Amino acid sequence: MSLPQRLAAPAPGWTSSADVVVVGSGIAGLTAALRLRETVGSVVVVTKDHLSAGSTQWAQGGIAAALGPGDSPEQHLTDSLVAGAGLCDEEAVRVLVTEGPEAVRGLVRLGTVFDQTSAGELALTREGGHHRDRIAHAGGDATGAEIQRALVAAVRAAPGIEVVEHALVLDLVPGVDGGVAGVTLHVMGEGQRDGVGAVLCRAVVLASGGLGQVFSSTTNPSVATGDGMALALRAGAVVRDLEFVQFHPTVMWLGTGSTGQQPLISEAVRGEGAVLVDDAGLPFMRGRHELADLAPRDVVAKAIMRRMRETGAEHVWLDARAFGAERWARRFPTILATCRSHGVDPVTELIPVAPACHYASGGVATDLDGRSSVPGLYACGEVACSGVHGANRLASNSLLEGLVFSRRIAARLGEGLPARQQPAGDPRRPGLVDASARRDIQRVMTESAGVLRSRDGLARGAADLESLARRTTEEAGVASWETTNLMTVADALLEAAWAREETRGSHWRDDFPERDDEHWAGHLDVTVEDGRPTVTFGPAPVTAPVPTGVLP
Ligand SMILES: Cc1cc2nc3c(=O)[nH]c(=O)nc-3n(C[C@H](O)[C@H](O)[C@H](O)COP(=O)(O)OP(=O)(O)OC[C@H]3O[C@@H](n4cnc5c(N)ncnc54)[C@H](O)[C@@H]3O)c2cc1C
Repeated sequence: MSLPQRLAAPAPGWTSSADVVVVGSGIAGLTAALRLRETVGSVVVVTKDHLSAGSTQWAQGGIAAALGPGDSPEQHLTDSLVAGAGLCDEEAVRVLVTEGPEAVRGLVRLGTVFDQTSAGELALTREGGHHRDRIAHAGGDATGAEIQRALVAAVRAAPGIEVVEHALVLDLVPGVDGGVAGVTLHVMGEGQRDGVGAVLCRAVVLASGGLGQVFSSTTNPSVATGDGMALALRAGAVVRDLEFVQFHPTVMWLGTGSTGQQPLISEAVRGEGAVLVDDAGLPFMRGRHELADLAPRDVVAKAIMRRMRETGAEHVWLDARAFGAERWARRFPTILATCRSHGVDPVTELIPVAPACHYASGGVATDLDGRSSVPGLYACGEVACSGVHGANRLASNSLLEGLVFSRRIAARLGEGLPARQQPAGDPRRPGLVDASARRDIQRVMTESAGVLRSRDGLARGAADLESLARRTTEEAGVASWETTNLMTVADALLEAAWAREETRGSHWRDDFPERDDEHWAGHLDVTVEDGRPTVTFGPAPVTAPVPTGVLP
């Protein structure tokens, strides 16, 4: 199939300029903006909804950093490499774990209030895959909301950062020298900047988050439509490791056919002793893995999917009744309130759960300073593939990645901005996929490229996407722009999942159930030319031993 080479939109009715445009206002975007303000002249933050609408706001468990007694960056490195199943870039992980502690202290200085011990120290907890207590958290299970609050307050108070809310970035403006000359965007609202316009700049920092909405159900908010990855693909950037999508095993099941963002029931609930059971009340994780219910996320997600297939059920159950009312209220106030708001009281009832799309380990390929393969285009946070996650993200490393690598981009740009480029004519073929295809794209991706994948399923998915791509429209607007982005990312993800004929990390092929280091120890890079994705394999050094623990 040949997808639009750029989003069809009215010609820009207004133009402004800045040194740097930051796209997105989660932990990555706001940290970049705050740091850039100190080093470059003018910074504009453009964000699709209100400032706090991204995934950062929803993060529950916490942020990982080697801050506790007995812990060290080296140990954090080892745990991250094991989780990444051989595909982490060791240098990138080293940057993450060595710069992480200072970056988290920086968040504290900024005003983030993390939970403390009775002795006034940072309270640190442990999550799956970590061998030390190194997860800083806030408000019990409301870490992201507290970080987002502190960052928004700092940005609001900082002179020199212009914030444009309710503004959807459409595409990059190509420069005459082949790099970036700015972005086109659509501002929804009234005022000087209404409708489609362009901000010309010397560098674009993509911090637009993940792609959860590519699937029918996800923990990600509605803004996570993969826009940044899609515009980077259309601009010719290399997008890496897209097949490695993490599905969270315990997402509250809200009923047949319910789509979009669903409430996450944190792994920490299982960490405190909650047990997965099937319809018959059988605790089916026992005997599947030495860690049983606390096995790595992908192992648990696959076990749940298998159980659902075997029993024909649409979900399984999480039993956390043993906590009692006091522990629920103290330890998981947000989750307790969410469950109750959906009519389930976890103090006395089982919680219905099923796996849902949670995190994109891949994204726009970057170097250690956040540079993409397109001159002037930088990326950080979930939209990026910095190499720290490999084939599977270690819990609570993602907030840290956004924090650390946005700081590095700001430092790099502070040393010197790319030369301003004149906008070139844009010969790319515009087009749009009709918004009516959105639900169908999500359904096709869930069926074919969800937790369990196979050659036949992926082939069916590719054929279905191809026919959905023919549902074009001339009606430019948020719905069709987002749907076109979803289609662009879905197409690239499916190609990568099809190409990787092995099971590794969060990519599970039923027809190739083993990890195959002989043929697949490397990355799959997707680039788009003439609207068609091409997948290229590049070997990478194997950085970690094969994780053990799965029982036969
Ligand atoms: C329910 C949940 C729980 C999680 N728990 C944890 C946890 O405990 N620990 C952890 O480390 N990670 C966790 N994660 C993952 C983590 O929250 C994200 O990976 C991280 O917050 C991503 O930050 P970000 O800044 O890259 O993107 P986001 O915070 O998602 O921000 C993206 C921004 O880009 C904007 N945007 C998107 N498209 C456009 C566009 N076209 N134009 C303009 N703006 C655009 C969005 O509006 C948003 O402001 C969790 C995620 C979820 C959903």
